Amino acid sequence: MSFSLPGIGPKTLTKLKQLNITSDKELLYHFPHRYVDFSKSIKISQAPLEENVTLSGKIQNISNIFLKNGKSLQKIILSDSTGSIDLVWFNQPYLTKNFHEGEFWTFAGTTSLYHGHPTLFSPEYGKFNTGKIIPIYGETKGLTSRWFRKIFSLHLSSLLKSYTDPLPLNQLTQYKLIPLNKALTQIHLPQNQNYLEKARYRLAFDEINSLLAKSLLQKKSWANFSPKFILKNYSTTKLINSFPFKLTDSQKSAWQEIKTDLISKKKVMNRLLCGDVASGKTVLALLSTYLTSQNQRQSLLLAPTEILAQQHYATFKSYLPTFPIYLLTAKNSLPKTLDSTAIIIATHAAIFQKEKFMDNLALLIIDEQHKFGVKQRSFLNNKNPPHTLTMTATPIPRSISLTLFGNLDLSTLKNLPQKRNPVKTFLVPQNKISDCYQWLLKEIKQKKTQAFIVCPFIEQSESNLSIKSAKKEFEHLRQIFPSLKLELIHGKTKIETRNKILDQFKKNKINILVTTPIIEVGIDFPNATTVIIQSADHFGLSQLHQLRGRVGRGTLQSYCYFFTESTGEKALKRLKYLEKTNDGFKIAEFDLKSRGPGETFSTLQHGFPSLKIASFSDLKLIEFCQLFLKQLQTDNPHFDLKKLVLNQNSLSLTGKHLN
Ligand code: ADP
Ligand code: MG
Repeated sequence: MSFSLPGIGPKTLTKLKQLNITSDKELLYHFPHRYVDFSKSIKISQAPLEENVTLSGKIQNISNIFLKNGKSLQKIILSDSTGSIDLVWFNQPYLTKNFHEGEFWTFAGTTSLYHGHPTLFSPEYGKFNTGKIIPIYGETKGLTSRWFRKIFSLHLSSLLKSYTDPLPLNQLTQYKLIPLNKALTQIHLPQNQNYLEKARYRLAFDEINSLLAKSLLQKKSWANFSPKFILKNYSTTKLINSFPFKLTDSQKSAWQEIKTDLISKKKVMNRLLCGDVASGKTVLALLSTYLTSQNQRQSLLLAPTEILAQQHYATFKSYLPTFPIYLLTAKNSLPKTLDSTAIIIATHAAIFQKEKFMDNLALLIIDEQHKFGVKQRSFLNNKNPPHTLTMTATPIPRSISLTLFGNLDLSTLKNLPQKRNPVKTFLVPQNKISDCYQWLLKEIKQKKTQAFIVCPFIEQSESNLSIKSAKKEFEHLRQIFPSLKLELIHGKTKIETRNKILDQFKKNKINILVTTPIIEVGIDFPNATTVIIQSADHFGLSQLHQLRGRVGRGTLQSYCYFFTESTGEKALKRLKYLEKTNDGFKIAEFDLKSRGPGETFSTLQHGFPSLKIASFSDLKLIEFCQLFLKQLQTDNPHFDLKKLVLNQNSLSLTGKHLN
């Protein structure tokens, strides 16, 4: 830990650490999350109701009142030449020791009427907290906003001494940005709203630039790799002709892009293939592995779940029956020696056997990339990475692809292969749930279709009993549908059991599958036409869209029902949005916009960085920063982009995008 500040003892250090503050810089970048404007200083009698004001006067009376229920109330009467006002706190008996009758003090708070008297509840006091715009910080026990205000009021200038602005002065003037030290000063000790806005803008600008610079650096470092193996072009016409369908135009152009990368002599592929659920990404993976195999090299397709790996394995086997295709999961290991043309389909268990294939691996494909965590990155912590294709069904808003995936080349599948009936989606009010179950019973009996019922968790959460758990709901649903066959699978179900159940479900021997989001990715059962999502407000919108994508795969009309105990307006609005939208791309944009700055976006991405001040939905700022960086590099070709990266620790060269 490195703090230059005086008076930070071990106790404070521990508390700071709880807020992830371990250095001067992190302290400086612990930005307030909001402000209260107490800059209006007026006479007591002129204080308007329900406004934030600062009042100064003489303390007339101090009382500590103990209430019956063991609680207490502290009251001070403050007066000036024009009148008097009550100041009231609750349960802070020690507080009155700070004040003495007859003293002059300044307080700040929001005026209200209490028992007919003008009152300030829990007012702020002291020079760091009154008479100005005061910041409110993320706090922890014993480190309050008051503490931060004092520290910054006393020590900000010394904290700033060791920081120089990474941006050249001429650029600052050209882009009308205030210098960094000024921005950091104004964000903690704002002089007025105008300066505060300028400070926020400058710091948001830096935050976005940091991401863009990081992407650029990664792209540059990736460009330095030369292909591990030079692959030749082989005709794929025969394979393509063997498909029971024609490739869509998007698939054709994506394949052209991927193939060009694969046979490039100079460049190692680092491409993101982005396409909505069921847009047909798998055949592109298949074509890529086929080309690699023809070149006598190995490829690895990583799937996030066992179920999906098995499904891919079956698909690949059916298209390439004579090829050496292996399944590698927690249960299936690889043979001792592998064919040099092996196509390995694996879950992350592959990490433990990677020495068996890593040397001859020419291609790595990561399916449903957003489902992977940090561990998977170790595949690429490699001086000589293979061609890498990441695939995601989460449509990525432009602002995100620029900032976070700027290091990747992007291919997009814009349209779905065949026209599908959009899934009819409904948010079901609590009092209609049993009607919905009646309807489902009829649907299943009459049309011989099947259903998924999805719960957020496996077990009941102790802290929140209203969130549905798959285990408990399963018992409950069995009573509701005594005439139907129900089964339960979740992440902890034994693989053999799970496979057996899925197999039976495929054969329509099970009517309703109760499950957790493990079915979110990949599963393809055209006869399942209904999905009910319990406690739907606990899922991200993109995730709900994915879950909904489990139905609507056959020719019959499909249905998706959201149940929720939530009555929150925002939560309901989010769910309602899905009733009218089937376009994954629009959903991702909406999801992004309905989150404020600083709110994480983790449903889209594991380890998705959270922004402190900027917002991923601010496309205008992001494009502005892009222009800025371009200009900066033209004007100043030797400018070290690393200087713009705020968190230097996060700069790893390869594979960071998989985070
Ligand atoms: P995803 O992009 O979600 O991974 P898949 O690759 O699993 O989608 O494809 C979904 C379904 O569409 C599969 O059954 C696949 O065989 C089929 N499919 C893929 N491409 C086409 C196409 N061009 N025309 C018709 N069906 C296709
Ligand atoms: Mg897929």
